[in-house]
Amino acid sequence: MLLYSTKNKNNQASLQEAVMKGLPDDNGLYMPEQIPQLDPKFIQNLSQYSFLEIAQEVCTTLFGQTIPLADLKNILENSMDFPAPVVKLDEQKYILELFHGPSLAFKDFGARFMAQLMSYFNRGNERELTILVATSGDTGGAVAAGFYKTPGIRVVILYPSGKVSMLQEKQLTTLGHNVSALEINGTFDDCQAMVKQAFLDTALNQKLRLSSANSINIARLIPQSFYYFEAFKQLQKEGDPIVFCVPSGNFGNITAGLLAAKMGLPVHHFIAATNANDVVPAYIKTGEYQARPSVRTLSNAMDVGNPSNFARMLDLYLGSDDCSTWNNLKEQISGYAFDDAKTAEIMRMVDQKYGYTLDPHGAVGYLALEEYQREHPNTRGIILETAHPAKFLDDVEEILGHRIEVPERLAELADREKKADRLEAEYGELKGWLERNS
Ligand SMILES: *Cc1c(COP(=O)(O)O)cnc(C)c1O
Repeated sequence: MLLYSTKNKNNQASLQEAVMKGLPDDNGLYMPEQIPQLDPKFIQNLSQYSFLEIAQEVCTTLFGQTIPLADLKNILENSMDFPAPVVKLDEQKYILELFHGPSLAFKDFGARFMAQLMSYFNRGNERELTILVATSGDTGGAVAAGFYKTPGIRVVILYPSGKVSMLQEKQLTTLGHNVSALEINGTFDDCQAMVKQAFLDTALNQKLRLSSANSINIARLIPQSFYYFEAFKQLQKEGDPIVFCVPSGNFGNITAGLLAAKMGLPVHHFIAATNANDVVPAYIKTGEYQARPSVRTLSNAMDVGNPSNFARMLDLYLGSDDCSTWNNLKEQISGYAFDDAKTAEIMRMVDQKYGYTLDPHGAVGYLALEEYQREHPNTRGIILETAHPAKFLDDVEEILGHRIEVPERLAELADREKKADRLEAEYGELKGWLERNS
């Protein structure tokens, strides 16, 4: 398997290089050079395959001979040990629950697969690998859990002070061992910019072996395509066309769905749902892409002002000029944005009407699907529920006006001691910390 940079198709890399580097030198993003089609019979007979077998088929189709089958099976078995069930709300609306992993968010799929793949590619290497990751909330917990105690690899997580929930913070600051947390006086965008700068710092990269674990790493993206097939399988029997609605921040999750569609999954349409950080829905509406500083919302894991996977979305729909790219993209994807008041209101409505507790991110998805289905009623919509509501316990209980159930592994966290170093939002601070702690 070969990958290229979205900035320059001649800048190519093997899967191993792309996974270990995270980001090409030209500051683009890695994309598969070819996106092969799955066997149509496999798609028709999805229901005969387990989640694990689906993942294996997608990987072998995409990777070719890059990883021997026995090793691939090992990687998948170690990373995909939790389910992705679809729950029915009514004939038109379904919830794909992606929160059954260790950190209770969909990012567990990407983080665990990436940790396994990196550890596979890193085998036999003497020098320690440092994974740098910026998180707006859920990435940190998933990556920390994914890499926890992986030999030869340490993880450094940057998160914006005061902008993640108490339990999210505990998930990334209480593990210890090979996991360090840096509390940054700034926004998620500051954290992301600091990490990007570290990768572009030649001197630092000579001292340390750095890699990334954000959704920009292709190893995060690929496994996120597996559950689109898995969800499709659960509704495949006769019925209206299937649309996926994806609560989006950096747009990695939806890009993985677009990848699944390119490989042959017959998805009728995609819906990108955002909070007030609506640069992509605005692009879909106007054809103009205008990055903005992020604003804080209830659905804080989607507070992103310049989504890093946008370049990949454009790459998937590349036309002969900007206008035809835009046309290609909006044929497949609709975008809607909602404010916090609407989000809270729909959480109460869904709780009362269906007895189902949505988290604020899933609630934004519900709103977007509802809006889309007003004009496209003969569709079945699958909303990706990206996190367990208990991850946002205070907000959710306040909005609903009653207590909700907290999974045991989350409840335990509350009593553990937070360990984080506090830094200003300046690259020099991060560099200094890395040099002192290596
Ligand atoms: C990360 C995250 C998102 C956004 O996913 P992207 O792939 O960045 O678009 C949505 N919801 C939750 C709960 C998240 O953690």
